[in-house]
Amino acid sequence: MKETKEILSDLMYIKGVGPKKAEAFAEEGIITQKDLVMYLPKSYIDRESATPFAKIKSDLLYEEQDETQKILGFVFKREITAICRITHKSIYVYGKNRKLLSITLTDGSNTPAKLVFFNMVEYFDKIYSVDSVLVVSGMPELDPKGMLTFSHPEIEIIEQEEAEEYSSGKILPKYRISEKMRRSGINLPNIRKIIKTIFERGDFHFRETLDFSVLDRFNLPPIRETVHALHFPANMKQLELARYRVKFEELLHYQLLISMKKNYIKQTEKGIVIDKKSSSARKLFKNLPFELTQSQKRVLREIDADFRSGKNMNRLLQGDVGSGKTIVAIFTMLMAIDAGLQVAFMAPTEILAEQHYFTLKNYFEKNFAGEIKIVQLVGGQRTKLRREVLEEIQSGRANVIVGTHALFQNEIEYRRLGYVIIDEQHRFGVAQRAELIRLAAKSFDEEHTSPHILVMSATPIPRTLTMTVYGDLEVSIIDEMPKNRKPIKTKVQFDEYRDAVYEHIRSELKAGRQAYIVFPLVEKSEKLELKAATEHFEIIKEEIFPDFKCGLLHGQMHWYEKEAAMNSFLNKEFDILVSTTVIEVGIDVPNASVMLIENAERFGLSQLHQLRGRVGRGSDQSYCILMTKDNFKYKMKTGLDGENERISAVVRLKTMERTTDGFEISEVDMKLRGPGDMLGTRQAGLPEFKYADLIKDKDIIITAKSIAEEIVEEDPQLKSDKYMFLRQSMAEKHNIDKTYLGIA
Ligand code: ADP
Ligand code: MG
Repeated sequence: MKETKEILSDLMYIKGVGPKKAEAFAEEGIITQKDLVMYLPKSYIDRESATPFAKIKSDLLYEEQDETQKILGFVFKREITAICRITHKSIYVYGKNRKLLSITLTDGSNTPAKLVFFNMVEYFDKIYSVDSVLVVSGMPELDPKGMLTFSHPEIEIIEQEEAEEYSSGKILPKYRISEKMRRSGINLPNIRKIIKTIFERGDFHFRETLDFSVLDRFNLPPIRETVHALHFPANMKQLELARYRVKFEELLHYQLLISMKKNYIKQTEKGIVIDKKSSSARKLFKNLPFELTQSQKRVLREIDADFRSGKNMNRLLQGDVGSGKTIVAIFTMLMAIDAGLQVAFMAPTEILAEQHYFTLKNYFEKNFAGEIKIVQLVGGQRTKLRREVLEEIQSGRANVIVGTHALFQNEIEYRRLGYVIIDEQHRFGVAQRAELIRLAAKSFDEEHTSPHILVMSATPIPRTLTMTVYGDLEVSIIDEMPKNRKPIKTKVQFDEYRDAVYEHIRSELKAGRQAYIVFPLVEKSEKLELKAATEHFEIIKEEIFPDFKCGLLHGQMHWYEKEAAMNSFLNKEFDILVSTTVIEVGIDVPNASVMLIENAERFGLSQLHQLRGRVGRGSDQSYCILMTKDNFKYKMKTGLDGENERISAVVRLKTMERTTDGFEISEVDMKLRGPGDMLGTRQAGLPEFKYADLIKDKDIIITAKSIAEEIVEEDPQLKSDKYMFLRQSMAEKHNIDKTYLGIA
């Protein structure tokens, strides 16, 4: 619902717009004056931040160093923006009547740069004339003669008047201009002028969207002032404040949404109270062959408090590979079982489910023989077995059900399923979690009863991402390793030292330990992949380690074949397990002390970290060797040349050598890949922010979250006058379930 005032006059009737431009704007969703006013600049150019050509050249175009880059000694190529004037143009003919246009630019210094066009030469020759002032954005390179060259930059022509403003120190905003907008004659000065006219006419009213109670607290400018500053910044300080406000507001809305939803669920859903002392848990505690770490104990206290609270638990347990999440899960299971509840444990793959099944079974048999019944539910089980399992679940005889996706099929009838544990949460979608919760709720006779949920993630992710993607979950973190562990020694090695590497592995094997050799999947087709895996295996087995026993594990094997291969490795029937990345998660063979990763430069950082987590699980010193091509030796040293892709590969390898801390690794990974890629395609929960940046705006994210929680605590439905503006804008902007606002 738009206020009439805001659409008083259509954009088309503003001076300088007209039907053709209005149409081009409309295609971008800019229909009203307000839409255009809210079409905020995507970046800014100012004299201070525009880099002089000489500086670009001498820096060799590398970004100012942030933390990661400082540590690693690397910097990435980045887009730079320069303001410059055309001094000279020439068209060259080469080859068979082909032409290129070369434009020489000056930024006022005596270091020139050039623009080169190979296509549409006549066209570009016409639009760019000598003495035009341009804003050029792109990733420049040095041509063989050492001339700074932009190959496919984004170019804006600046009018004389603006060029003067700029040179007198003004900050010029840049807007995203679509192809269609460009073709209809819309350019940067245009947009600025139209917006200026709208502001000057002043016939529409900005409705405040943040309450003064919030604005005052953070010293933020009101909405009109903010938007004006974003379009016409008087100075950097004013601009920064305005940008802070839009980002903060966006993040605050998002966090409010999460907090209100969380609060609503807490108020309406009844939590199952688990408050009796669990004799089983105590028994296990006494029999445990090791002492729990402080972190493990702390997490257990946090879960225990949730269980007692009468509210649903929704908790994320983050901890690095090998930090001991499973035992924490087992303790909490016992608490639930002693309270008469069924427990489901869901793993992302059959192999992992099977592993968990055996781990749990082992614990239960050793400590509670006959008292606790555990069953397994996976795809492809025989009908008869499956029927039996379903029967045990339905009757309530099964205390713990371990399985895969098979756990949330509709036909499964649980019996008082009060606790759901999900391992490797990132591999499941939000919808799948919801489905299992629904089945659990159905398994109670009482209405509005839903299970306690613990999701476990072995893939540490940066704190700001946790706050965003898992904002609806409480977070517990295990941030220390069991005491008996020695940190894994990690080393990047090059092909030329291959013999020495094999010798090292041989000595470990002779000492009775085992090794993994992992190589990446390089083939696109399954058939070729299988061939590559087998060939590699043959070489290792016949030529390199003929005196040791080797097993093979790859993705084309059926899960029970994989299981068999892994069990053989666990039982020491093989000394070496040659594998593709299928061993990435969950495999627990404490006797394995060497992980050799071939073509390590091809793996992602999180993946390398996961793979490395397969060793160092016992008390022996373990090693991770990252094999890479000889030419990386030079790159590892200099780091500076080449494509971003290659630089990232070096950063990944160096990071692995430098640290074993999964959280630290995840921060680097997010910087390299961005938050979206890092979470993987399955994660639907990553919101798209218009202004905020999940990497750069860490502090704002943290502030917004804490303020949102404070506000919801104080006024869960934003009912007081104090939050009137917030309430209005939340109701309007977000397609939220109005029940959270109490206006259903
Ligand atoms: P993850 O967090 O990767 O799931 P696991 O729970 O599989 O880790 O634990 C890895 C190994 O460490 C297991 O063999 C487990 O028995 C052992 N472990 C767990 N906690 C401790 C501890 N506090 N002290 C010693 N070993 C432990
Ligand atoms: Mg685990």
